[in-house]
Amino acid sequence: MTADLDATSPMINRADLRAFLEAAPKPPGLRNYGPTPTEADVAPGTQWHAYLAQHGYTCLHWPAEFGGLDATVMFQAMFAEECANAEVPRQFSIFGPDLVGPVLIRFGSDEQKANYLEPIRTGQHIWCQLFSEPEAGSDLASLRTRARRTDTGWRIDGQKVWSSGAAAADFGILLARTENNKHRGLSMFIVPMRSPGITVRPLRQIDGESKFNEVFLDSVELPEQSLVGRPGQGWELALAMLGRERLTLGTHAVAMFRRHEELIAAARDRGVLDQVLGRSMTRLWARMWLLRYTWQRAVTGGDVTSPEFSVLKIVASETDRDLSDLATDVLGTDVCVDPELDDLVRHMLVGRAQTILGGTSEIQRNILAERVLGLPKEPH
Ligand SMILES: Cc1cc2nc3c(=O)[nH]c(=O)nc-3n(C[C@H](O)[C@H](O)[C@H](O)COP(=O)(O)OP(=O)(O)OC[C@H]3O[C@@H](n4cnc5c(N)ncnc54)[C@H](O)[C@@H]3O)c2cc1C
Repeated sequence: MTADLDATSPMINRADLRAFLEAAPKPPGLRNYGPTPTEADVAPGTQWHAYLAQHGYTCLHWPAEFGGLDATVMFQAMFAEECANAEVPRQFSIFGPDLVGPVLIRFGSDEQKANYLEPIRTGQHIWCQLFSEPEAGSDLASLRTRARRTDTGWRIDGQKVWSSGAAAADFGILLARTENNKHRGLSMFIVPMRSPGITVRPLRQIDGESKFNEVFLDSVELPEQSLVGRPGQGWELALAMLGRERLTLGTHAVAMFRRHEELIAAARDRGVLDQVLGRSMTRLWARMWLLRYTWQRAVTGGDVTSPEFSVLKIVASETDRDLSDLATDVLGTDVCVDPELDDLVRHMLVGRAQTILGGTSEIQRNILAERVLGLPKEPH
């Protein structure tokens, strides 16, 4: 069950959107795989993205001059919710449309806009994000991948990790060090992923899927025009990108109501839905509704930099984690052997990732403590 976020929109109402998604032809193998695809999701995911693009339903938040809809945050949230209800992804992956596109629109050169925006909108180019490193995750600005000037542009050396979707990507958006200054020494680059010197090594996850990768960059030569913005502007651009990431991650809350229903049905089937469990399920359900309304308030405000999005990120990912934990308590060893529970089990195994990606819960709490509550800054 989901709350009605917004019954109508200036552009299209919820019923029309639902009818469009229901009638749309679904490529074989299409599933709602979350923000990033596995290898098996690439073919159906790109076909689906292309279909949405043909009907004007990708890059909704982009300005109309770049093929977007100038959509409000509210409309984007409604679209994400309807896609979750229809069990389809709302786009191929978050990287091109949600992270790279808005940064290129704001900071990119005319040439970069002309070369990259339309193929992102149509899904012709797949992108990945090359930020995290083995020694630089939460403290991203300590990254060590180096970009050195050459006669023709830049030479890149270093290693990235947890790069989602990098194995299938055509381009990566890279944060690298051009000077020794911690924040002001970072710059952002566009990297063609088939360049000589790039090695992508997939990492296998606990659920058997392989969504993220290690990426090694050994003397990778880039032309001058691959720099986004100015040298040393990388941190400013990265913050703009991470702000949008928090917004998109909050939309996953939508799928929780469905899992909650599945869990109640599974518990009922097994005759274990007693008062104690009922109370735990109700408590979680109440948290999901609180989350729903906080989300609604935040998207109505429309300011994606608002700290409310940090609250949402923490509450959404931790409620989701608690739902998975309860599933294992309820279903016991059945989760290991019952194929009907595959989806719940997969979610239980990977759900915890939500409390890490896009900024861990601890980091989100630091942000809230410092920026909202005005508590003393953590010592560095
Ligand atoms: C599913 C998934 C997909 C991802 N996709 C990408 C991607 O496509 N591209 C990319 O670049 N990165 C990606 N990441 C990486 C992600 O951004 C990092 O995992 C995240 O920023 C945390 O960094 P870390 O893993 O190095 O942990 P660390 O920073 O080493 O943190 C380890 C632990 O210490 C805690 N901690 C660290 N600093 C503090 C502090 N100051 N105060 C309190 N506690 C602290 C953390 O909360 C955490 O619990 C992905 C991660 C996941 C899980």
